[in-house]
Amino acid sequence: MTASSPPTQYHIVPLDPHAHLYQVSVTVVDPDPAGQRFRLPTWIPGSYLIREFARHFVHVRAEAERGEIGITKEAKDLWRAAPCFGPLTVVAHVYAYDLSVRTAYLDGTRGYFNGSAVFLCPEGREDAPCTVDIVPPDPAFGEWRVATTLPAVVAAPYGFGRYRAENYDALIDHPVETGTFATATFIAGGAQHDIAVTGHVRADLPRLAQDLSRVCQWYIDLFGGAANSPAPVDRYLFQVLAVGDGYGGLEHRASTSLVCRRDELPQPGVADISDGYLNFLGLASHEYFHTWNVKRIKPEVFAPYDLTRENYTRQLWAFEGITSYYDDLALVRCGLIPAERYLELVGRILTTVLRTPGRLTQSVAESSFDAWIKHYRQDENSPNAGVSYYAKGALVALALDLTLRFVGRVSLDDLMRALWIRHGHPGIGVPEDAIEKLASELAGRDLGDFFARHVYGTEDPPLARLLEEFGVTLHLRAATGPKDRGGKPAQGEAPASTLGARVGPDLKLTYVTRGGPASRAGLSAGDTLVAIDGIKASQDLIAAQLMRPRSAEPIAIHAFRRDELRSFELELQPAPLDTAWLTLDGNAGSSAMLRRDAWLGTLG
Ligand SMILES: [Zn+2]
Repeated sequence: MTASSPPTQYHIVPLDPHAHLYQVSVTVVDPDPAGQRFRLPTWIPGSYLIREFARHFVHVRAEAERGEIGITKEAKDLWRAAPCFGPLTVVAHVYAYDLSVRTAYLDGTRGYFNGSAVFLCPEGREDAPCTVDIVPPDPAFGEWRVATTLPAVVAAPYGFGRYRAENYDALIDHPVETGTFATATFIAGGAQHDIAVTGHVRADLPRLAQDLSRVCQWYIDLFGGAANSPAPVDRYLFQVLAVGDGYGGLEHRASTSLVCRRDELPQPGVADISDGYLNFLGLASHEYFHTWNVKRIKPEVFAPYDLTRENYTRQLWAFEGITSYYDDLALVRCGLIPAERYLELVGRILTTVLRTPGRLTQSVAESSFDAWIKHYRQDENSPNAGVSYYAKGALVALALDLTLRFVGRVSLDDLMRALWIRHGHPGIGVPEDAIEKLASELAGRDLGDFFARHVYGTEDPPLARLLEEFGVTLHLRAATGPKDRGGKPAQGEAPASTLGARVGPDLKLTYVTRGGPASRAGLSAGDTLVAIDGIKASQDLIAAQLMRPRSAEPIAIHAFRRDELRSFELELQPAPLDTAWLTLDGNAGSSAMLRRDAWLGTLG
C-alpha cells in the first residue's frame, strides 16, 4: 500500500458511558475480494506483555453496501468478513474500564483510549492513511473536550471532530483523552508543549509548566545543541490523570499518558519541591526522554513492531535503564534540584537493587529478554529470581556514564547523541550489539569487559570506586527498620534485625528472602502471621521485635498457611548492609571536583 491508498476510516462513539462501552467502526473502501481480514494488536508498544486487547470486544458485526454480511473469528485477535464489494464497515462494541495508561476507559466523567485497544487494522492496509471521527457523547456531557496529538482534519483545538494519522502505526501511537481537563502550555525547542490534567485536582499548573519547560529544554539541548535544535516534534502533550492512589506512564511519539496521585502535583502557594512532586517530575522526565530513547532510537526488532507476538530484545536495560538514569539526572542538570537531593534518589535506587537477591541470578540482558514473561508478572519469587532492568539498568547506566567520563573523556550524553545521529534521526533500528560497540568506540578502548560483567553478567557495577573519582562517597549501612528505604540515617537510630521477609498490611508475608531467617524457620510467602511469642501479631509488635537486642532465644511464631495453623521458631539475624546513601565528599581533590561538576552540571 502507498500513501495514495484510500484512507481507512475510523469512527469512535462513547455509546454507553455508564456501561463503559465504546462503539468503534472501521471502513475499508476497497476490501480484499477474498474476504477482508481485520486484526487487533495483542500488546501495546512500551509495555512488554501480551495483553489480549481483543478480549474486550463484546460484539462485532460487518456491513457492506447491501446490508449486514457475515464476519467470522479466525484467531483470538483476527476476524474475516465474508467476500463483498466495498465499502465494508466493521462495527464493534468495546468494553473500556481500565484506569491504566495501557488500554481504554469510559465512564460518565471521562473517556480515554489507546488505538491499539480499540481500532481494528485491516490486513494488508497497515500503511494506508487513516481518518478518525472522534464523536462527542450524549449532550449530557456537554463540557467534554479532546486532548490528543493526532493531527486535526476538521476539529477546533481540543475539539471533537475528524483527525488523521499517516498509517496504522501512527494511529495507535497518539492516545486520546476526552473529558473536562485543565490545561497549561509552554514552548520548548520552538515547539508547543501542552499539559492536560484530568481529575479532582487543585494544582499550580503555571508552576508545573515552568518546571517541565526546563526539563524538556534540557533534553532538547542534550540531543542537538541549543541554536539549531528544534524539538523532535511540532507539538507535545502530557496527558495527566490525577487519582487518589496510582502511578504509571507510557511513552508515545509526541505525547505521554501519566497517572499520578493528586497530591504529587504542585500545590498553589508551595515553593518547595515535595517528595511527591519530585516523584511526578521524575516520571514526566522519564517519559519525555523516551521521545528520543525508544520511540525514535529503538531496538532493531521494534522497527517495525510485530503486534501479534512477543518482540524479543536484550536491550531494554538500555531503553528503560538509561531512561531511568536520565529521568532524575535531568532534574539536577537543569537546576531544579540540588546535587544532594539527586544523590538521595540514587541512594534509594541502589538500596532497592541491593535488596533484590535475584540480581545475582539474572543479568539485565536476561531480564530484558524475559520482560514478556517476568517483569510484568511479578510474583512472590520475583525478588529472589530476577532483577528489574529499570532499577539495575539505571545503575549500569550510571556506572557506564562515570566510566566513559573517567577513562574516555566522553560521557553517556555523547553516546546518546551518537545513537540519535546514527539511528534515531535516520530511523535505523539499533542492532543488539551496537551500544557496546559505540561505547568502546567513543571511549577509545574496549569496554567489552564492562558489558560482559554488568550487562550480560550479574556482577554489581563498581559504584563506590567510580563515585569516589567524582567526589561522591557511597555509604552502606544496615536498615533501621522495615520502613527504611535508604538515605542518611536519622540520628540515634540503631541498626535493626531482619526477618528476611516482607510483611503486607494484612500481616501476610508477600515475599520471603531465600536463605533468610523466615525462610530458614520454614515460613513461606502467603503465610499470615497470627502471634509472636504468644501475643497477637501486629506491625508494631514486629517492629519492636526487630529493634530488640538480639538474644539466643528463638522467637515463637504462629501463622496460618492457607487455613491451617502452623508454629515456627525463628532466629533473627542482623540486618545486612543493604541500605545505601551518598554524600558529596568534602575532601575530594580538585580533579574529582571538576569531574563531579561536569557530571552533575554544577559548574559555576
Ligand atoms: Zn520507560
